[in-house]
Amino acid sequence: MLHIESYRRIVGDYPIAEIYKKARKLYGKNILDINSTYMGGGVAEILSSMVPLINNVGIDEDWRILHGNPDFFTITKKFHNALQGGKIHFTEMKKKLYLKTNEEFSAYTRLGQNQVVIIHDPQPLPLITFYKKRQPWIWRCHIDLTSPNKKLWDFLKNFILQYDIVVISLENYRHKDLYVDQRVIPPAIDPLSPKNVELPRVTIEKYLKKFHILLDKPIITQISRFDKWKDPEGVIDVFKKVKEEVDARLILCGSMATDDPEGYKIYERVKRKADKLIEKGDVILITSENNILVNVLQRASSVIIQKSIKEGFGLTVTEALWKERPVVASNIGGITLQIKDGETGFLLKPDDTDNFAKKVIEIIKDKELAIELGRNGKEHVRKNFLITRLIMQHLDLLNEVLS
Ligand code: UDP
Repeated sequence: MLHIESYRRIVGDYPIAEIYKKARKLYGKNILDINSTYMGGGVAEILSSMVPLINNVGIDEDWRILHGNPDFFTITKKFHNALQGGKIHFTEMKKKLYLKTNEEFSAYTRLGQNQVVIIHDPQPLPLITFYKKRQPWIWRCHIDLTSPNKKLWDFLKNFILQYDIVVISLENYRHKDLYVDQRVIPPAIDPLSPKNVELPRVTIEKYLKKFHILLDKPIITQISRFDKWKDPEGVIDVFKKVKEEVDARLILCGSMATDDPEGYKIYERVKRKADKLIEKGDVILITSENNILVNVLQRASSVIIQKSIKEGFGLTVTEALWKERPVVASNIGGITLQIKDGETGFLLKPDDTDNFAKKVIEIIKDKELAIELGRNGKEHVRKNFLITRLIMQHLDLLNEVLS
């Protein structure tokens, strides 16, 4: 198990001392996080690093997963899409199943001594209705809330208004019409987790061999769930254009999250679209859930793409920057916090296929440029998006709601 002191060599002494200072008033407190999946996606990634470290500094923070059946997750994925601006056919049936799943979970999940409850994203949001509220509740929303479907937003506000604080990832996601205190806390990565820790060359080679990935030409990678918001089909279009000028290989790596039932459908679409390229071995699709593999792929790539249409934050961008990889990404949502155009990567309009391809080619051809972007990217992450900073903000929030 990692100790917070292990991070000294990366962040220095000051953040470690600050974390202990901020934790002091919280000794003996019990905190509970609830989200809807233990793997695949940014929320699980953050919780799996942060919760053990919070325990390590003396606070009892617990993490539970909302149980839902496939119908429930089909509905909540539709909610997720509609909150990001997609369409929804909003029926009484959907509302009913959404509420029923939360009510049932509350019947066998005791809150016990927990002094703060933190609910992540919309799936477990209505839980607050099914408990006698004896402590502060925080809703931590990780998605882009700039243009939610009005009807759905109005329905969800029935629950959101009961919360003490809403936490969002970006200033832009703040809602003026939401009369609940809103705090901005961007996500962060754990530089010592298997996904981000430095790897010996032999490990990288072993994994590449195991997944039949040759290094005979530059690798371009997008690491993302097979989700329409991540636009994997658009990445194939970019790759086809890149191939007209340089020989390269594309890897799309997307594990299947248990709370995202659309993954297989999108995967099949991508597979059909890249059919011939897959046959030739120029496009590789991976669906394994494997943190070291993600680490290896990011390190072995010449360019990382993140061609999302909407992105609450986009942890994959920070993960790549930390590994000094140049990133070409869409200028949307949380990505704009991470990439300064021309300095830590390149930002383009999500539908600008031609320029996505141009920038990828430019990086592949210009090694100096790739090194420069990589170096700046790592520095930017070191200052802004490492787990120690997130832990400090988390402790500030707990101190605030418990004071
Ligand atoms: N991820 C992974 N394996 C995959 C695809 C994604 O481990 O095949 C991880 C990725 O490394 C990142 C998280 O899932 O840590 C995705 O977070 P992000 O914020 O980029 O997107 P989200 O899935 O939450 O929308």
